[in-house]
Amino acid sequence: MARHTITLIPGDGVGPEVSLAARRVIDATGVDIEWEVHDAGLGVVDRYGDPMPAHVLDSIRRNKVAIKGPLTTPIGKGMRSVNVALRRELDLYALVRPCKWYPGVRSRYDNVDLVIVRENTEDLYAGIEFAEGEETTRELIATIERLGGRAIRGDSGVSIKPISIYGTQRVFRFAFQWARDNGRRKVTAVHKANIMKYTDGLWLRVAEEVAKEFPDVEFEDRIVDNMAMQLVQKPELYDVMVMPNLYGDILSDLCAGLIGGLGLAPGANTGDEIAVFEATHGSAPKYAGRNKANPMAMMLSGALMLRHIGERAAGDGLEAAIARVIAEGRSVTYDMKPDRDDPSAVGTSEVADAVVEALAGSRVATS
Ligand code: NAD
Repeated sequence: MARHTITLIPGDGVGPEVSLAARRVIDATGVDIEWEVHDAGLGVVDRYGDPMPAHVLDSIRRNKVAIKGPLTTPIGKGMRSVNVALRRELDLYALVRPCKWYPGVRSRYDNVDLVIVRENTEDLYAGIEFAEGEETTRELIATIERLGGRAIRGDSGVSIKPISIYGTQRVFRFAFQWARDNGRRKVTAVHKANIMKYTDGLWLRVAEEVAKEFPDVEFEDRIVDNMAMQLVQKPELYDVMVMPNLYGDILSDLCAGLIGGLGLAPGANTGDEIAVFEATHGSAPKYAGRNKANPMAMMLSGALMLRHIGERAAGDGLEAAIARVIAEGRSVTYDMKPDRDDPSAVGTSEVADAVVEALAGSRVATS
């Protein structure tokens, strides 16, 4: 069996715990992986002068595949998100986030099986921001007025929303191809083209053009506010939804809410050559170091990763083992219990024990 070398970034907050749990179950599938473990984030700034040091990026570029735990971004302070920087730096332009309900999960919904493909490099996340009160911001405001735009109040901060033909084409081509490869029937383009005619309008126009290249996949579009309501009322009507960065961020959490919460929502940041797998959730600082966080989102990200590296049977086996542990309902964390203080909830590492056991059980059953 071929050996795979994969970069592992444990992350911070609950990251190290959920990453260790994911690593254990991935190893338990029997796939031969050499892990290159590298720290990143706020904790390494003193050591390397950078939250995403060059040697970590080099490791990902070399191995082409990485799995990472969440990294904390201070809110409203100067530092930009390391997660956003990583996606941009490696040009991981499509973030695939499956949201699937598993029997046994307590949720208002069942049988939800949705996939969000979020454009990952443009839109309001491009990081082009002008702070209130600065000279450059005043200049920008004056330029916009001079070019015939509407007056902007002098005490405004400004964030720029670029959406390009290039960026839109490649994420839709990726999404249609993904839908085709994974037996999906429909792609829905999400936008606010009625208001933002030159950004979301372009997005919709390009989507319609790319859709013609994939006549075997059904195509439709939805305005983002309507999409939010439809997802809450009739999630079964949707399949693969492609959206610009910010809507993707918000609706990913909404979809995670439909299938039992952030503890169950995995993700894959994908570019033409490189893929970095990570859960949708953040570093949940209040649970850091407490063996409380649900590692299943990170484990399911591991299942996506195994399929990506060509180990489809191992990926399917891992997902099935997680589903079995959920269905049994004994070895699950607090967030999957009806009451958050349920004393029968287990910890992060016990979930890993149970999934390893379920994997061993399925091997015995099939041998
Ligand atoms: P969060 O996802 O960390 O937490 C939101 C809520 O969900 C909290 O109540 C938390 O306790 C719960 N939760 C999250 N993951 C869980 C899990 N695995 N098991 C059980 N409960 C879980 O979101 P936040 O509080 O908005 O962000 C915290 C930090 O994480 C911020 O610094 C943010 O920037 C960062 N963040 C990082 C990433 C990433 O690394 N890709 C993604 C989102 C947020």
